[in-house]
Amino acid sequence: MDQRADRPPLYIAMHERDNVAIVANDGGLPAGTVFPSGLELREKVPQGHKVALVDLAEGAPVLRYNVVIGYALKPIARGSWVHERLLQMPTARELDGLPIATVKPPAAAPLEGFTFEGYRNPDGSVGTRNILAITQTVQCVAGVTDFAVQRIKKELLPKYPNVDDVVALEHTYGCGVAIDAPDAIVPIRTLRNISLNPNFGGEVMVVSLGCEKLQPERLLPPGTIPLVDERNVADIGASAENKLDVVCLQDDAHVGFMSMIDSVMRQAEEHLERLNARQRETVPASELVVGVQCGGSDAFSGVTANPAVGFCTDLLVRAGATVMFSEVTEVRDGIDQLTSRATTPEVAQAMIREMAWYDAYLDKGRVDRSANTTPGNKKGGLSNIVEKAMGSIIKSGSSPISGVVPPGEKARQKGLLYTATPASDFICGTLQVAAGMNLHVFTTGRGTPYGLAEVPVIKVATRSDLARRWHDLMDVNAGRIADGEASIEDVGWELFRLMLDVASGRQKTWAEQWKLHNALVLFNPAPVT
Ligand code: CA
Repeated sequence: MDQRADRPPLYIAMHERDNVAIVANDGGLPAGTVFPSGLELREKVPQGHKVALVDLAEGAPVLRYNVVIGYALKPIARGSWVHERLLQMPTARELDGLPIATVKPPAAAPLEGFTFEGYRNPDGSVGTRNILAITQTVQCVAGVTDFAVQRIKKELLPKYPNVDDVVALEHTYGCGVAIDAPDAIVPIRTLRNISLNPNFGGEVMVVSLGCEKLQPERLLPPGTIPLVDERNVADIGASAENKLDVVCLQDDAHVGFMSMIDSVMRQAEEHLERLNARQRETVPASELVVGVQCGGSDAFSGVTANPAVGFCTDLLVRAGATVMFSEVTEVRDGIDQLTSRATTPEVAQAMIREMAWYDAYLDKGRVDRSANTTPGNKKGGLSNIVEKAMGSIIKSGSSPISGVVPPGEKARQKGLLYTATPASDFICGTLQVAAGMNLHVFTTGRGTPYGLAEVPVIKVATRSDLARRWHDLMDVNAGRIADGEASIEDVGWELFRLMLDVASGRQKTWAEQWKLHNALVLFNPAPVT
């Protein structure tokens, strides 16, 4: 039973200048509904969809978040349902003449004293999990690696209780690709940086086929793997150059399939021994590297979950942590808000460079940023990408933007970073893993069971109805904000504290409990052959 059915009719406007608002009640509201303001619905309006607060003339701008999300294609009477077929989408903001580093927010007070229990790595980064990751140079070896990983989990992992998991970094790259194309640098550096993610403890082992284009030394050239410590170099009696641990399936030494499996297991055990010897230690919250993204968005995303994440983003930045926001097509329409928040003109220019590159990439495929929205977004009340973007960008909070990370690159500084990635959930997540994310926050309105094997994913529901139905998949219910039961600040703080618990391993996310793991999906803008 839905206890909320008898709630008074409620609509939510985001800004005093908005001429539309969204219907908050579960199941929507029927024609004839009268709101406390006196507004009467002329027709049924589904939950999350927009109602006209005033009469709108043909061609009139429709405002939500105090931003023009479209122009009325015909006159729309007050109290009508304002759906996407009634709106003409504005054109995208040009990339010249943007405000550059114009907003100088007052320095926020540092947030001190918050810590978590993490694994300190040789390179100074901190893991929230202690995982053995097996890197692969090419998809061809995926079946063999998976076979070995299943046996490692069954036969070896029980002997090393401090190690959380063994993960094969499976992907579809490595051969049959134009590996010298300029854009091939994106998938190659993505794979390289994923294998160096803080949750893998600096232990890198590679399974290679032998004949593939992406040879191990091209994937991980000498010097890319930080020296674990003097002891390990001494152990193998080698220099940093030949430290790369590779099992090559085409090696003459392998006779039979089991020889390959034994070889992978033998090498894996060396890494497991070292990982198992590690202990969690108390580290400041500034060691968090949080990736935020949304997926399966609805009109509540920008009202409840994303503003709460944005509040939490500001808390994290005040605590000295790194927060990455991404999803280029979902911030493209708010580019002026972002360039104005850049700490320096160089940061703003880097952002513009990434946007321009992506505009050209979409143009090559004869689409634009409007190709982003899904049928589910529209069913959830989001009329177009402009409206979706305004709700998505809120995840970045209000802090200054201090850096830009190109796709597949590693984040090398603290603060709020624009990490340029497609909005695709699994590609965005994969690129954020490569950027060094050790904790992931994901908001959803329609609902998605998204999870990663490499990094814990905290999922935030935008609506109480979703949180109720998906009670064992959603970690936080931001729908309480629309219900009037919690403030944005309340949920933001709750999320912040949950992050420290999850990062410390004191609490597992639902995706971890059920072992819901999406594939790593590379962004490969270069040709395949
Ligand atoms: Ca997404």
